This record gives sequence, structure tokens and C-alpha cells, in this order.
Amino acid sequence: MKDIQLPGGPHFAYRDGELHAEQVALSALAREHGTPLFVYSKAAMLAALGAYQRGFAGRKAKIFYAVKANSSLAVLQVFAQAGCGFDIVSGGELERALAAGGKPADVIFSGVGKTRAEMQRALELGIGCFNVESEEELDVLNEVATRVGRTATVSLRVNPDVDAKTHPYISTGLKGNKFGIASDRTVQAYRHAAGLPGLNVAGIDCHIGSQITESAPFLDALDRVLDMVAAVEAAGIRLQHVDFGGGLGIGYEEDNQPPQADALWKQLFAKLDARGYGDRMVMAEPGRSLVGNAGICLTEVLYLKPGEQKQFVVIDAAMNDLPRPAMYQAFHAIMPVREAPNGAGGTYDVVGPVCESGDWIGRDRTLATQPGDVLAVLSAGAYCMSMASNYNTRGRAAEVLVDAAKATLIRERETIDDQLRKEKLLPAG
Ligand SMILES: *Cc1c(COP(=O)(O)O)cnc(C)c1O
Repeated sequence: MKDIQLPGGPHFAYRDGELHAEQVALSALAREHGTPLFVYSKAAMLAALGAYQRGFAGRKAKIFYAVKANSSLAVLQVFAQAGCGFDIVSGGELERALAAGGKPADVIFSGVGKTRAEMQRALELGIGCFNVESEEELDVLNEVATRVGRTATVSLRVNPDVDAKTHPYISTGLKGNKFGIASDRTVQAYRHAAGLPGLNVAGIDCHIGSQITESAPFLDALDRVLDMVAAVEAAGIRLQHVDFGGGLGIGYEEDNQPPQADALWKQLFAKLDARGYGDRMVMAEPGRSLVGNAGICLTEVLYLKPGEQKQFVVIDAAMNDLPRPAMYQAFHAIMPVREAPNGAGGTYDVVGPVCESGDWIGRDRTLATQPGDVLAVLSAGAYCMSMASNYNTRGRAAEVLVDAAKATLIRERETIDDQLRKEKLLPAG
């Protein structure tokens, strides 16, 4: 086991037979804070960001961390301090970004269903840009901006109609998706936007999906987007920026390694240069690729349960903590926190306590474990805690952020009082 590179390595690695996050032994964190427990490595986040920064070096370019991937305040704080802006998809995420130290001017607001109230708040704060997804939304934003006496800076999210070759639920750039403005409506939508007094048309944007593990869909999408830039500018509307969204995948498994951000962006900038758009401001909205492999979830083995066809390891984390397997049949590596095998090895389905057959975390895994052991579910930094729920009245997990030898509790475990606080019994009689 010593020589394997874990997802999230080298920041998550075995040392002296114990899995560590940076310099902190994970078994000690499980003892101190209980399980399920999310543990993040700050160095892993900054290393992932570093790949984008290398790819963007010497360019007019800015990184907007996509808050929904992991919206915990301390995680946002790390990215704010590292100079990132934020890509948000709700008024709630706007407040989080500000609470973590983000500046309104460094916020861009994406999403297909912004409400008037969300638009008004964002306008009053003076956010950097609205990524608008329909002509109807242009009219509503114009109306709200005019009413509050502000001008909304906008870019239009276009749908380049490319197949991102990912799970259908996380593919967003195909014709049948709800996202973006169809390519044959683009020029018309821009003309419409340019004619609205409350709007300032600044750019174009796209986001073709998530967990994309090849370069080709990105390169195809950029070609289509640049075709649209050419068409829009031929209509007399100048575009200052190209926002290329997020979507770069991470390696959940050793044999499925997506391109590195710096290598991908080298290719994308080469295309921008070749087509004469190398001088434009370029923006990106990465989420998963900045945090996915910077987090793990610690969980305790409760039972080994023999079944008629399968053997089960029942753990104390479940689909409410780690929703990706249930939602997308996603794979997460599962490793023991102590390297030495414990008990007889076997092939198990690793499942949680929630009353749903969909509540599995891993299938057909070879593990040597017994009740009381702590396991680590890897690649759990993105779309886990931010999607966690209280299903089965399970409190959401605690979170710890590790920075070298220092571990900080960044979210307390949710208590039953936290969960019941907003609820009311019917009045007596
Ligand atoms: C979700 C989302 C992102 C981030 O996607 P990742 O796959 O996590 O990089 C970026 N932009 C928009 C508009 C999104 O909806």
C-alpha cells in the first residue's frame, strides 16, 4: 500500500501505517471529533488552485471559485485569501461569499432561476457580473436594475451544444438541457440585451457540465463560443470577457485521470490566440477541481453484515452525508485509516444506515475491517457537505480543516436541537 498514490495525494497519504492529512493523523481527528467527519487539506486546495494560476500566468484572467462545490465558510475564506472571486448560484451563496471575506465586485451570479429579490440584493451590493440564462431573465433584470437605479453588468450564458461525455445529470451544454441560450438565438438575445437601459453587456459565458475528464469537449465548446463571439461582434456588440465556466473533473480512481488545469488552459489559450481573441479577459469558474480531492470523510464501521448474496460493511456515514453514489452512481475510494489489515479480508458493499436501498457508498470493495475501525471515504471535498441533508433526521457532519500540523474545527456537528429549532407543534386543542 505504501507506494500507491491516493486521490488527494500527496496531501492525504500513509505515514508509519497511518493515513494522514498533511501532518495530522486522521485517527486522532476521528477520536477527538467523532464520525462522520469531513477533513480538508488547505495545501491540497492551494495546490489545485496553483495549477489554474500557472495556466493563467501572464494573461488577463481571473478565477471565480464555484461556491456550490463546497460552500463551508472556512473553505471560501481560503479561496478569498488566495485572491479568487466567487461564482454563486443563489442569494444564500452571495451572503456566504461575503461572510467569508469575498468582495461584491469579485462575485459573478450564475443560475437559471434568479429571483427578483436575489437580483435586487446583488445589484445593491454591486456584484461584478450576472450570467444571464434567458431573454426573459434579461427583461426581469433590466426591470429590477431600473427600479433600484443601478446598471447590471451582464454576460449571456450560451449553450454550445457539445457533449461533455459525463453523467447525464451533470452535463449541461447539450440542446436538451435547461441551461443557457440556444446558439441560434444568441445574436438576437445580445441585441435585445444591448437595447435595455438597465444592462451593460460585458461578456459571454458557458459551462458545459461537470466531472469532464477529457480536453476535447472543452476545446470544442471554446470553438463554438468563439464562433458566437464573432457573430455577436459582427452585430456591433463588443464583448470584453469570455467566461469559460467550470467542469474540469478530478481523478476519483487511479486509472481515470483528467487533464491538469494548467495543461488544459495552455491548450485553451493557444486556441484563443490562434483565433485572435487572446487579448480578452478570460474567466473560469472551477468548483470540483479545486476542492474535490482536498477532502475526505472519516466514518466508523458499525457492523459487518453477512447477506445471502453479498456481504455488507455498515458504516455511520450515509447518503445524507455522501450523496454522490446515490445520485450519480459515483465512485469514491474507501481506505482504512490504519494500514494494517484488521480482521479477515472480504469483498463488501459499503452501506450507510439510511432506510433506502440507494444508500450505498461503495460496491464490491475489498476490505479487511471490523466494527470500530475508522475508514476514509476519499475525494469527498466537492458536492458532499454542500449537498448534505438531514434525511432520516441525521445531523450533518462536523468539518475540520488541516493546515500543516494544525487542525481547526470549521463546523460543529449538527445537534438534534439545531434540527428541531424551526419546527412547531400544532397548538393544543
Ligand atoms: C456548478 C457550476 C460550476 C462549477 O462546476 P465544477 O464542475 O464543480 O467545476 C461553474 N459554473 C456554473 C455556472 C455552475 O453551475
